[in-house]
Amino acid sequence: MIQFTTRQTKILEIIESSGPITGKEIADRLQLSRAALRSDLAILTMSGHVGAKPRVGYYFTGQNIKNLNTMVFETFLVGDFYSRPIVVTESTSVYDAIVILFIEDVGTIFVVSENNILEGAISRKDLLKAAMGGKNSNELPVSIIMTRMPNIILTTPEESVLAAAQKLLHHQVDALPVVKIIKAGSKATFEVIGRFTKTNITHLFVQLAEK
Ligand code: ADP
Repeated sequence: MIQFTTRQTKILEIIESSGPITGKEIADRLQLSRAALRSDLAILTMSGHVGAKPRVGYYFTGQNIKNLNTMVFETFLVGDFYSRPIVVTESTSVYDAIVILFIEDVGTIFVVSENNILEGAISRKDLLKAAMGGKNSNELPVSIIMTRMPNIILTTPEESVLAAAQKLLHHQVDALPVVKIIKAGSKATFEVIGRFTKTNITHLFVQLAEK
């Protein structure tokens, strides 16, 4: 995103509220000479924020770079980018969970009950902490150390990548379970169908840049 100077921002605001407007009118409002505005108007035109029509004046294009980026990320949906989930049950030992972490090469494992219903999440550091605790990791079930529902931050295939990325940042976690919401009366349970991680976003970022 281009950083505009205070004067350029003022000019952009005038064009947005009063455009089409001539260079002379803008200059009058800011009590500056037209020559003094020339380079600012050139920058605003080149950046695509402002259009110029001879004899009509400058007008706001309605497109600024930030809007375009936001639009792009809001169009991408979690459903098109998530990875396969790695899950265990509550009775799985910490030892086995660590082995799965290595074999599957993931940072977060989700804990599920029957029918893949989400119960919890275990991160790398949860497992490290448990391993350092001095207890026998073969006898320690993951249920003791996991973060439990309803404290798990979720996403769905229909959510935008932008919204999911904001959740990852805001809650400072590395992965979100992608869930299908199953309503049963007034209650809802969440079937784990995927995982959405910072790596998925990095892939999208690189794909966009390479295209
Ligand atoms: P690490 O602990 O390895 O840095 P995270 O930052 O992802 O990894 O996890 C931080 C804590 O948040 C851990 O205790 C973990 O159990 C928990 N956690 C992981 N994923 C989620 C999630 N999607 N929602 C809520 N808590 C989570």
